[in-house]
Amino acid sequence: MGKVIAIANQKGGVGKTTTAVNLSACLANEGKRVLIIDIDPQGNTTSGIGVNKGEIDECIYNVLVDDTPAKNVIRPTSVENLAVLPSTIQLAGAEIELVPTISREVRLKRAIEDVKEDYDYIIIDCPPSLGLLTLNSLTASDSVMIPVQCEYYALEGLSQLLNTVRLVQKHLNHDLEIEGVLLTMLDARTNLGLQVIEEVKKYFREKVFQTIIPRNVRLGEAPSHGEPIITYDPKSRGAEVYTDLAKEVITHG
Ligand code: ADP
Ligand code: MG
Repeated sequence: MGKVIAIANQKGGVGKTTTAVNLSACLANEGKRVLIIDIDPQGNTTSGIGVNKGEIDECIYNVLVDDTPAKNVIRPTSVENLAVLPSTIQLAGAEIELVPTISREVRLKRAIEDVKEDYDYIIIDCPPSLGLLTLNSLTASDSVMIPVQCEYYALEGLSQLLNTVRLVQKHLNHDLEIEGVLLTMLDARTNLGLQVIEEVKKYFREKVFQTIIPRNVRLGEAPSHGEPIITYDPKSRGAEVYTDLAKEVITHG
């Protein structure tokens, strides 16, 4: 059975999508069978992995709202061992359309039940909110990975996120664990970044990933080419660190 990991933080621009795309591709590169689920209406993961959103008839919206089987919507990517369940802007309506429906928080969990055995890892890229789409993701997941940008106010909003995790553990998914906190976009030339690392480690202790993601120009460029970093520039620092992260995730078991 595949391990399901949600990548969540209600703050935008902290590296959720970059991590979802590149962690997934690096896990696939390590020989794991991986599915990446884009549950953000912006669909940045979908285009970042090379899927042309204009060509998609059905997306995760149809899986959540119309009960379309996930298998019908999942498509291969240019990366071996990596498949994607794409998103389009149509998903923006789901947050509201799901409100009056039965078992609205468990729709994703049910939808992926019959594809779980096809994968070793299922990585979910969450939207920047704590609404129904993120609740569906946390309910469907074995663990949550929290990217935190090495910037001022890094910890801001995290208590709200942790509170949501606790509520999900209590009411929707008793087994949800915190996979870890991932420090992202570190600029090692500044003291600020190092201070943030200290602060986050003081708070989260052993839950902080040893791998720290630095700012890397190539990581920022790769999405506009529709490629993960390991194919866009396999020798870059970005490819190196996301490979390290994939190995760290694999050792978590
Ligand atoms: P989120 O999904 O949390 O909103 P993104 O992963 O989309 O965040 O990152 C926000 C922006 O920062 C994107 O333009 C992305 O390409 C860029 N970015 C993310 N991580 C890095 C990094 N380590 N180095 C350089 N640019 C990055
Ligand atoms: Mg994103």
